[in-house]
Formats: sequence, C-alpha cells, structure tokens
Amino acid sequence: MSDKGYQGSPPPARGADRHVPSILKDYRNTAVILALGLVILTLLACLPYAPQGPFDARDYTRVAGIRLEQHPWEALIEPLAAPFLILAGAPDFSIAGFSVLIWVLLGAAAWGMFAEYRAQRKKKPFAIALKGIRMALVASSSLILIILLFVVARIPAWRLVVDDPNLLVADLHSHTTKSHDGLVSTLTNLEWHASCGYNVVALTDHDELFAHELKVKADSPLERLQGFISGVEVHTGQRVMALGICDCKAPPFQLKMGMTDSPDLTAGFCKKIHEGCGGAVIVVTLKRLTTDDIDLLADDGVDGFEIVNSGHPDLPPYLRQKVLDTCRSRGLVLAASTDWHGWTGMARTWTVMKAPGALALPPSQRASLAVRKLREHDTDIIPVVAGYIGEPSPVRAIFSPIAESIRYAMELSTARVISWWIWVWAVFVLWAFLHRIGPRPGSILFASLVGATGLSLIFAALSLIRQGTESVTSFPLRIGLISVAIGAAAVGFSTFHGVTYLMRARRKGRTEQRGGSLYQP
Ligand SMILES: [Zn+2]
Repeated sequence: MSDKGYQGSPPPARGADRHVPSILKDYRNTAVILALGLVILTLLACLPYAPQGPFDARDYTRVAGIRLEQHPWEALIEPLAAPFLILAGAPDFSIAGFSVLIWVLLGAAAWGMFAEYRAQRKKKPFAIALKGIRMALVASSSLILIILLFVVARIPAWRLVVDDPNLLVADLHSHTTKSHDGLVSTLTNLEWHASCGYNVVALTDHDELFAHELKVKADSPLERLQGFISGVEVHTGQRVMALGICDCKAPPFQLKMGMTDSPDLTAGFCKKIHEGCGGAVIVVTLKRLTTDDIDLLADDGVDGFEIVNSGHPDLPPYLRQKVLDTCRSRGLVLAASTDWHGWTGMARTWTVMKAPGALALPPSQRASLAVRKLREHDTDIIPVVAGYIGEPSPVRAIFSPIAESIRYAMELSTARVISWWIWVWAVFVLWAFLHRIGPRPGSILFASLVGATGLSLIFAALSLIRQGTESVTSFPLRIGLISVAIGAAAVGFSTFHGVTYLMRARRKGRTEQRGGSLYQP
C-alpha cells in the first residue's frame, strides 16, 4: 500500500482548515447513495406488514400476553448485527449464507474493477483484475469476520417478555460443554437463558443423562436462576434423534451408548424415560425424517415433536404439515427449542405453557410442572418463534441477499432504524476524515473489524479454557490455545496496521505542509 502509487477515486481538495460541509461536497455521490439506501430501509420498516413476532409457530398467528424486546443496548450496534440477523432469519441459513457470500464476492469484484477502470488513464487489464480480486477478498472476509464476531461474542438478539403472569416460558433443548459441540458451562447456559426470558431450561447433552455437574447451593446463581430439567439427547434410530426430558435428579438407569447401531429403539427409550424418570420424549431435528417415520414415532409413544429448532434449518413444508396433522390428531405436544450450544447469543424460539401460579413456585417445582405438562400432553403448550421465516424456495435462496435484506428491514423497530441513520453518517464522516489524512480509509476500518473479532475470540477461548480447568469437560484445551493464538495474531495485525496508517498520515501531512503532494496528478 504505497502512498505514491495511489490511483483510486479522485482525491478530495486539500486544505487543513476545511469544514464538514466541504468534506460532504467532495463525497456527495457516496452521500447520495447512502441517503437513498437509508430512505429505502426506513420505508420498508414503516410498511404495515411486520414479520416480527412473537408468533405461534403452528400457524404464525400472534400470541397474546407475550412480546419481543431487543436487549436495550443491542439497537446501539444494529448495523454491525445486520449481516448476522439477515442470515439468521432465512429459511435455511447455511444456504442463504453461501448465496450471500457468492453475491458479495462477485459484487465487490465488479465494483473494484469498475473503480480501477475509471481511475486508470492507460487501461491495464492485469491491474484492473487484481483490484477486483482484492476487493472481493476484503468484502467477503469482512462479512465472514462480522458473522464470526457474532458467533464468538454471543451478542444476543431478542428476549421474550411475558406480560401474563400465568405463562411459563421453557427451552426444552440445550447443551453445555458436556456435549462434544457445546461451548458453555451449565451456569453460562442458565444465565443466557435467563437473559432471553426463559423460566425453565432443559439441559440435554448428547448421550449422557444428567451430564452436567450441579453444585447447587442455597444462594448459588443456579438456584437464583430458572428451574432446570435434567435431560439427554440420543439417536434412537438411524434417522431419529430424541430428547429425554426427565423429572428426577439422579439417573435410575444406565443409558447405553451406540443406539445408532440399532434400527429403532424409540419405543424402548420412551418406556425408560416415562417409567424410570417420570419424563417425556420429544423428537428433534426432524428434517431427516420421512412422513412415515412421524406415524411410527407416534406409535412408539413419543410425547411430541420439535416443530422449530433454531440450530437446524427449517422443515420442508410437506414434513411440517405432516407433523402438525399428526400432533393435532393424536394430541401430542409441539415444542420450539433453541438447541443452544453456546454458538451465537441469539434466541428466537420459546415453548410457552399456560400454568397459573407457576412463577410463584420454587425453580425445581416449576421444572417438574413443565415436565408434567409435557407428559400429560397439555393442550395449552404453544411453540413460539420470533419471526415469520417464510417458505424455503430455490429462487429465494439464490436471491438471498435481496430477499432476506427486505425481510430484515421490515422487522426493524424505530430505535433500530435510528441506529442505522446515526451509524451510517458517523462512519461516513469518519471515513471522509481518514480519507483526508491518508489513502484507503476502508483498510483501517477493516483492520478495526479484524481487531474486534480477534479480541472476542481471545475472550471466548479464555472463558472456555477456564471452564475446562474448573470441571470435567469435553472441550479440548488445544482448540482453546489455538483460538487464543489466532485472536492474538488478529489483534496484532490490527494494531500494526493502525499505527503504520497513522505514521503514514503524519508523513503525508508534513509533505503537504512543504507544498508537496502524495497523490499523482
Ligand atoms: Zn441438540
């Protein structure tokens, strides 16, 4: 990045005593595009159709007595959260993520090549292509960094606020470091759930009943938080995963591993959980199932199905309809669970139960009540989702950046729209200022993003290493140390880049004072 070789967009008029209106004049084209974007965003947010819930996941009608709130400070970082929220609300976020990445790569490459073509007097195809590749890499890695930042830093999205005191809010499916893919301790799990509005939480680690270590003292945070349910998640057939949700604090039987070897152990699992633990069985990750499986599982004695799982993509419509029909005709329960492993801080699913007086009960009795309601197939259990995701379709997947951005904009509240306006103009003014003191202001903004992601990676890894030393955990220390090293390298890069940028800017200032110019004419 040599100052002498800078041949990008035309440099602004220079002068040490220029004011903000003068800077805006230099960048008016950019300002017009930004203003237009913000106006479109605001208009979409003002449309009477709001895909923001909370909705009953069975028919997407609004549920009385509950409402969604953002964590108050979340609106402050709305534009940074946007790439994550845009993808998180897609019918299949992995497909949408892939599609967005391709669009960003191609769009940035085209933009970079166009800018270079305009800036060059002698058209050099190699330099133009190189600029396109560089822009594509920077744009796509920025997107990946923002997503990574949200996954690692566990920045929360919504919390469910209950106005009706007779409603109990449960998450029937979550994990801790006792699962091979879990990232949080039992305590962190319960604290996060409390912050997202849950009164009862099931800890359902893989293949190990009552895996979590509980050191509940009278005044420990666990006791002050919500009631928790002991559970387990196991394969009970080649395509079937089931949750055992139990109402006892010690396993009355040894859960055998290797259930996947057998074609179908669901009936046996149901019997064990029902009779041994006074519990209920919920079938999860339904996407792998066939419609015939749904009937067979109901015959096996399961108590319900998970109609929404935050961690796994949405169900195909035919399967969703089959689950809805089966549960309606057989009187089974439908749950909306997070399947939270500690990746990201986003909650968008809650299972709400009508339970008069339940909130006054001690946490353990509240948990027992929730299990009993599942076991009795209570008709007042409502699976709740944060927003209407809509039907998955190939066209929507291909045009994900447009379709999901429009959906996201329509979800925005007034505070979040205001946040967009403030951030866009603040970054624009900062960018204009950096452009005045040195070339390529985007590079320093990118380096800041790298530094922030690196820092959150270090904090997340240190927290996991600490958990690993405090309890028997499946989290490998090696991965924690590698993450710290990557985070430190990112922070180092960011700091080095910032310092060299400022030094270069200072040198440029001195040259200008002497009457020279760093820009080629
Ligand atoms: Zn799970």
